[in-house]
Amino acid sequence: MSSCCGGDSRSPRPETPEGEASGALPVAIIGGGPVGLAAAAHLLERGLEPVVLEAGPSVGTAPLAWGHVPMFSPWRYNIDRAARTLLERHGWTAPEAETFPTGRDLVARYLAPLAALPELARRLRLNTRVTALARLRAGKVRNAGREAQPFELRYEDAQGKPGRLLARAVIVASGTWGNPSPAGSSGLPAIGEREAAGRIRHGMPDVLGADRARYAGKRVLVVGSGHSAIGTLIDLAALAGQAPGTAVLWAARSTALDRAYGGGAADQLPERGALGQRLRHLVETGAVTLLAPFSVDEIRRGADGSLQVLSLEGGRAEADEMVVATGLRPDLGILGEVRLDLDPALECPRVLAPLIDPNLHSCGTVRPHGAMELAQPEAGLFLAGMVSYGRAPTFLLATGHEQVRSIAAFLAGDLEAARRVELDLPQTGVCSAGRALPEAAEAAAPCCTPTTPQGACCPPNPEPAEEAPCCGGAARREAAPAEPAE
Ligand SMILES: Cc1cc2nc3c(=O)[nH]c(=O)nc-3n(C[C@H](O)[C@H](O)[C@H](O)COP(=O)(O)OP(=O)(O)OC[C@H]3O[C@@H](n4cnc5c(N)ncnc54)[C@H](O)[C@@H]3O)c2cc1C
Repeated sequence: MSSCCGGDSRSPRPETPEGEASGALPVAIIGGGPVGLAAAAHLLERGLEPVVLEAGPSVGTAPLAWGHVPMFSPWRYNIDRAARTLLERHGWTAPEAETFPTGRDLVARYLAPLAALPELARRLRLNTRVTALARLRAGKVRNAGREAQPFELRYEDAQGKPGRLLARAVIVASGTWGNPSPAGSSGLPAIGEREAAGRIRHGMPDVLGADRARYAGKRVLVVGSGHSAIGTLIDLAALAGQAPGTAVLWAARSTALDRAYGGGAADQLPERGALGQRLRHLVETGAVTLLAPFSVDEIRRGADGSLQVLSLEGGRAEADEMVVATGLRPDLGILGEVRLDLDPALECPRVLAPLIDPNLHSCGTVRPHGAMELAQPEAGLFLAGMVSYGRAPTFLLATGHEQVRSIAAFLAGDLEAARRVELDLPQTGVCSAGRALPEAAEAAAPCCTPTTPQGACCPPNPEPAEEAPCCGGAARREAAPAEPAE
């Protein structure tokens, strides 16, 4: 179906798929994470045929990678409604709603049972990495008949064997976990960073658990000042108390650490304040050695194999290991042959950017949104889940569930339901209501608290966080659906 207004096929307004020649084909979902699986459940509920292509050997590979980290939102907000309906039809019992799963629990108690249901198991292709997608027989430039053409997805299996799948629509739910930002302060890898890769871990290694042997008795340099970095620093300091010889170094780009430390008891976000205050105490007592300003520029190998880390400011740090927690980015490489309309800075759908821009907000405040906002100029192509936030670090699962509910409704031709907002979260947001957070959970992301003002913008942020906490501001309910993006 062509678009209105003179057939400008570059309009981001999604077209109803009814009548498309490709209508009999499945909807391809790239990524078997919580949002990709929820998308499949919603499509099945709508009588549509999903196929989930997951690069890893199991579903939920991202939550498994941070499996030791307790989530900051309780089960109640982590289970998609359509997925729950499907599971309960097979006799599944939901975990206790107000308890907080770890990443591992999320997979073991929810995602793995969901993926094992017969409805999903036969529509799930594990070890299948999508390498590219395009319109069949229509390169990126061609307009004529474009929207009648199905999507062609290319993929590789675990052995690198290539394959092809045709689809009527594509939901990209590939997350950002697999694409961490580098240590280099310009956004590029520091000189020598690639060569030192064997000594560098990204994200939140399980310092007190599975990865303990790697860090015990070592000099460890942590780069970044978001909550993953802070959590790792606090865990490393605990390890140093147990394992002699462990030294904890912290490279922060700025000396203005107010944001990392939070406002203590006066902090608008009390859990963030408590976490930051713990780190401040560790720095003040010398348990953590702060190097700031320290913009990582170059990493050299010493004669003894150690890492010599040089900063743009002329500083030097010597370490055995580095933990880099400078944020995550979408991998847009597979989308090079389809038409996108993304914010140039955040790399998220353009209409979302002002709501989640860390230059403007210290926590994201985004109204529930769906198909209309997430659609791309390539009709039938949607971004959903963590990847839909691009480089903004404030995504919440509950928001992702609402996204895919709306996308499934849209693809089923139910535009009224696609526009309707069904996300129903309390004014308090979804995070850690009234509990003392376990250290690791705080570390994971949570600036979100019951006191986060819904819909309110946080103060302008002089130091935009590349790796920052999530915020319950996403929970604001809006009666009126957003207009389709123009
Ligand atoms: C430490 C941590 C704690 C968090 N805690 C919470 C919380 O408490 N509450 C909350 O609401 N949110 C939380 N989040 C944020 C968010 O909900 C999670 O990151 C969640 O996993 C995002 O789900 P997703 O399905 O969008 O992406 P992912 O879980 O990242 O899933 C994407 C999947 O796509 C696959 N994939 C990637 N590329 C390809 C490809 N080319 N082909 C095929 N498959 C591909 C990956 O292997 C992966 O399985 C947390 C995030 C982190 C990092």
